[in-house]
Amino acid sequence: MTSTAFPGGTVLGYPRIGRRRELKKAVEAFWAGDADTLDLEVAAGTLRRDTVRRLVSLGLNPDDGSVPGSFSYYDQVLDVVALLGAVPERFRDLIDPDDGSLDLAGYFTVARGRGEDAPLEMTKWFDTNYHYLVPEISETTSISFADHRIVREYAEAKEAGVTTRPVLVGPVTFLALAKAADDAGEGFTPLDRLDDVVAAYADLLRALGSVGVPWVQLDEPILVTDTLDVPVERVHEAVTTAYRALATELSPVEVSTGSTSATDSTSASPVEPVETEEDVRPRILVGTPFGDLRGGDADALALLAATDVEAVSLDLVRGAVPTGPVAGLEGKTVVAGIVDGHNIWRVDLAAKLDLAEQVAALGAGGVTVGTSTSLLHVPHDADDEQWGDDSTPGAARRKLHPQLREWLAFADQKVAEVTTLATGLRDGRDAVADALAASGAAVASRESAAGVVVPTVRDRAAGLTAADFTRGDATERAEAQAQALGLPLLPTTTIGSFPQTPEIRRARAQYAKGTLPEAEYTAAMQDEVRRVVELQEQIGLDVLVHGEPERNDMVQYFAELLDGFATTANGWVQSYGSRCVRPPILWGDVVRPAPMTVDWSTFAASLTDKPVKGMLTGPVTILAWSFVRDDQPLGDTANQVGLALRDELTDLEAAGIGVIQVDEPALRELLPLRRADQPAYLDWSVGSFRLATAGVRTETQVHTHLCYSEFGEVIGAIDGLDADVTSVEAARSRMEIVPELADAGYSRGIGPGVYDIHSPRVPSVDEATELLHLATKSIDPRLVWVNPDCGLKTRRYAETVPSLENLVGAAKAVRGLL
Ligand code: GLN
Ligand code: ZN
Repeated sequence: MTSTAFPGGTVLGYPRIGRRRELKKAVEAFWAGDADTLDLEVAAGTLRRDTVRRLVSLGLNPDDGSVPGSFSYYDQVLDVVALLGAVPERFRDLIDPDDGSLDLAGYFTVARGRGEDAPLEMTKWFDTNYHYLVPEISETTSISFADHRIVREYAEAKEAGVTTRPVLVGPVTFLALAKAADDAGEGFTPLDRLDDVVAAYADLLRALGSVGVPWVQLDEPILVTDTLDVPVERVHEAVTTAYRALATELSPVEVSTGSTSATDSTSASPVEPVETEEDVRPRILVGTPFGDLRGGDADALALLAATDVEAVSLDLVRGAVPTGPVAGLEGKTVVAGIVDGHNIWRVDLAAKLDLAEQVAALGAGGVTVGTSTSLLHVPHDADDEQWGDDSTPGAARRKLHPQLREWLAFADQKVAEVTTLATGLRDGRDAVADALAASGAAVASRESAAGVVVPTVRDRAAGLTAADFTRGDATERAEAQAQALGLPLLPTTTIGSFPQTPEIRRARAQYAKGTLPEAEYTAAMQDEVRRVVELQEQIGLDVLVHGEPERNDMVQYFAELLDGFATTANGWVQSYGSRCVRPPILWGDVVRPAPMTVDWSTFAASLTDKPVKGMLTGPVTILAWSFVRDDQPLGDTANQVGLALRDELTDLEAAGIGVIQVDEPALRELLPLRRADQPAYLDWSVGSFRLATAGVRTETQVHTHLCYSEFGEVIGAIDGLDADVTSVEAARSRMEIVPELADAGYSRGIGPGVYDIHSPRVPSVDEATELLHLATKSIDPRLVWVNPDCGLKTRRYAETVPSLENLVGAAKAVRGLL
């Protein structure tokens, strides 16, 4: 094959949750028992058909596999678990003994757990805010081509007039992201099962080939990272083995590429097996989102070029265009991923065309235009937003400023960009002259618009010196703080939020809608703060919090109060399963028009003699959970947020708040996927936190909270943050982090969580005591704080109160022994 595949452009995937979160609603109704399997399948089928038709209406070719079939009921990694019937032993009974398949109810059970059977663990998908389920594989996990959903969904789309390209996680990425199941033998790694997984994929490809599926997309993002436990060489070997078996040993189906004719209407049934030799497969596009294939000392592009797959995508938003020809690409199509699937800015089409043209120098058989990643990571449609006056600050601000409209591209706008670029690449720039001019004008308007560059912000950032990033000596601080606070040994506290009751959520929603007047809203929230303070005093906690009832979300709350951010009404992005988030859009220089948290904290402090801890979200986390501007280095943006927070800390301090926590749960999440890039990241991220927190007095105690238990690459950063006290998740890992910190010479306060807030289970006094013993055995007990793993907002009071009582009981028990 030498002709270009997908000449009209393609996208690597599309949001599946639905423009109005239809899938979320259908799935949750099914879970609640308000809908049966058929209802759910009908709703999902409607959504899938609407999606493929929409993609065609936006310009993707309906006939040649340009339209991705990237639906999932919950998660694309779980889909492969289901495809293979590869469930952990504890869920074996959910598998149909006849064909090894998992029905929908079983599929969700593996995702969500049942009784004592824990669900699959969930973790971050590369450096996105999407979470996938971690497969558990052992020597005995059953692996076969068990689930035919992909074939059925292809047929369904075909019936609706669209020839899709089924998209699934590739075999190597699947296994490299899996973990060894508990029943696996010593030394086993999931990649040991490569041959079995590849055999099952081969069966799937034959099944797709036999019904004439022209293209399949296998995503192998594992090729852009070198930070996982699996050695890169092992991954590369596996890729060579896997694609020899899938691409070389099976022959590609004959398809007429570039056809623009309407769907072949001659076949009676769209899924009737076509007459072919036995080992026919669809052509294969290997998707490689999230980074450069060439990095570290390995060249995964050369590796893929040496296989017999027909097409490869390149992420040219994160990665660079290789400078010279790449051997092996001659017969392949390169899908140039030049439209960012991971951010929401409209592109400068002319500049992107330049980039696509550079790709031609690689010597590929053909070049077409695509997205860098699946569009899963952006909202559906910018036209779904309300555009108007956004001058009302706070939660009531729900409109996007009209000037933003022409700067933004959500998924649908990006599909249009892709098809325009593909036309420009194929037919020349004149063919898309109007679009080029319009996009150039939009980019120019963004450069010069009010608020994008605020001179006072720039001046302040330019004047920063090393002293602005440094506090005094940590030991002196600790002494001054001990004096000022007078806390007992093993002080007890919480991470900030208390359970968010339906009443609180209702009041906040009504306030945001404008149906609850501000004074009544404030009174309702103050009542809640009063209840939470009284409760904490009754329980006997040492450092209290106000409970965060006024916060819908720890990032959105601040985005609503800071200039330079916009928040959307319908900009939902799937976070995991049926959970969606609406990331704010950070579009301009960051200004804090007024204090953001001082009233709430001082109100709480006025109700008690105990210290009340102020509560802020750190700059890195605010960036990680927002769509960030792409017109300046991330570190510069982080410092702007850092400066706004710095002023907030100073105001809190001046108002008498002597303990202030700045949460950075996302510090690890933005960690680059290449080891070589990590030091520079840690430099600016840790720097922005220090900038935020270094402006307070010696006796003001700065806390931070990091919300995960595997520290690895960031253990040095914990020290670098220079917070006086750091709380971390530690209950499930049984305090593992504490000796690690001690070994690293850490000498500041540490609050390893003794109460796992991810489950409704109430830890007993004995359990918490045992964990505290473990902690105080491995680090100086004078450094240890006693707290839960994370905030309590998703818990109910019924379990929170006894758990905190037991936590305080444990602290008292261990104090008596020290
Ligand atoms: N202060 C926040 C809370 O308690 C921290 C949340 C988090 O770490 N994700 O909810
Ligand atoms: Zn947390």
